[in-house]
Amino acid sequence: MTKLPPLREVIARHGLSASKSLGQNFLLDEQLLDRIARVPGELAGERAYEVGPGPGGLTRALLRAGATVTAVERDRRCLPALAELQEAFDGKLRVIEGDALAIDEAREAGQDAHIVANLPYNVGTALLVRWLGGEIWPPWWTSLTLMFQQEVAERIVARPGSSAYGRLAVLAGWRSEARLAMKVHRSAFVPPPKVMSAVVHIVPKPAPEGVRAATLEKLTAAAFGQRRKMLRSSLRSFPGALEALHALGIRPERRAETLGVDEFVAIARRLDKDEHQGLVR
Ligand code: SAM
Repeated sequence: MTKLPPLREVIARHGLSASKSLGQNFLLDEQLLDRIARVPGELAGERAYEVGPGPGGLTRALLRAGATVTAVERDRRCLPALAELQEAFDGKLRVIEGDALAIDEAREAGQDAHIVANLPYNVGTALLVRWLGGEIWPPWWTSLTLMFQQEVAERIVARPGSSAYGRLAVLAGWRSEARLAMKVHRSAFVPPPKVMSAVVHIVPKPAPEGVRAATLEKLTAAAFGQRRKMLRSSLRSFPGALEALHALGIRPERRAETLGVDEFVAIARRLDKDEHQGLVR
């Protein structure tokens, strides 16, 4: 492996001034980047998929860890800097110019890839919902290691009863394990964002049987849409939901944030079963 120039020099040489509209906040500390690349575990011989490599700091760290990397970047100004990395890591890096929200990731990245990304904040939650949502489970990816604003990271790993607990926590919790792997101070980024960041690590687990993701999603949208209200009020117009609460012995005076992920799953399962039997209209 040839010695790589410092990231600061790469940014200066390629004129990569950070663009706010593309959510660009670059990480330049190679030790920190190596720590992030260790979050998914041993990457030697593994496939990694990175969204938004920018000047390539995290990309380098993934390549140093021994991964074969597919990276999708929207900002074509970054491509020459990434081409230098491709040369240095002979055949181990493939770069796709494009919008991560528009490409067929599973096909491009390959089955079982570890997704690792310092996400552009403006598309981070949309990508997470896409990776965690849908009826197909287990997913095409092996793990997610994602940088978010700390407040979003806390919502992903939140436990029932906390103010951060809501749709994202249920989405992450019902068929995956999510943990906050590390916090990253705003001063580590160039330019520093207004808020702190954190890396979340997510691995899929078997999905509970008899539940459709779409039903659970609609249920949590209704329940947390009016999170201060009792379930009997927030779920009043949700077909079959109050009957399901009754059948499961869940008191309708409770509020959404007191329900565990298992309870949401049980309600959704009941709704799917009742709908299947033609009991819900
Ligand atoms: N990975 C680099 C790092 O850690 O220093 C850059 C991270 S920066 C927060 C986000 C990157 O995502 C930028 O390079 C930006 O151009 C890119 N980006 C923004 N929107 C994108 C999209 N829809 N698809 C692919 N890349 C995108």
